[in-house]
Amino acid sequence: MNNEQALQIFKKTGGYLEGHFLFTSGRHGDCYMQCAKVLQYPEYTFQFGAVIAEYFKDKGVSAVIGPAVGGIVIAYEVARQLGVRALFAERENGIMTIRRGLEINPGEKLLIVEDVVTTGGSVKEVMEIVRENKGIAAGVGAVVDRTGGTIEFGVPFKAALTLKLNSYPPEQCPICKGGDIPLIKPGSRNI
Ligand SMILES: [Zn+2]
Repeated sequence: MNNEQALQIFKKTGGYLEGHFLFTSGRHGDCYMQCAKVLQYPEYTFQFGAVIAEYFKDKGVSAVIGPAVGGIVIAYEVARQLGVRALFAERENGIMTIRRGLEINPGEKLLIVEDVVTTGGSVKEVMEIVRENKGIAAGVGAVVDRTGGTIEFGVPFKAALTLKLNSYPPEQCPICKGGDIPLIKPGSRNI
């Protein structure tokens, strides 16, 4: 699957919407991505997972870990294809942690897998947990890299879809200035 094919899957499943959006940050943008719309289809989860699994198959990874909630499904699929354990980290009182008896073994190599990388914050928190537990963060995989390939994790990184998405402070929003596209807040109106 190449980048254009990945984008077409996002568009046909409604995971990539174009218009005029108000993000939780308060900024406006001309497109909105909802990875769950794509990953609800196991055949697409399989295809995106294969891009990541193929890239890391010879790296000696013995477990995959994803940040909850968004990373769980794709991390599990990548683990399934690699034939290794699937873990997830979740927030407890705002702090990313591993719960439910899941464990990282000292010295084992983990692949961190996320659905959408925007700032990379959650991924970096999971990398920190891996290291605190004496594991090795061997790489990062994502379905979508929204930074256009500029994000740096300090380890090998593979995204199935790389995009540079624009966002603007409301007072500088060119779509507002155009004036004819209504502003939509994602999460309402079933998107
Ligand atoms: Zn606007």
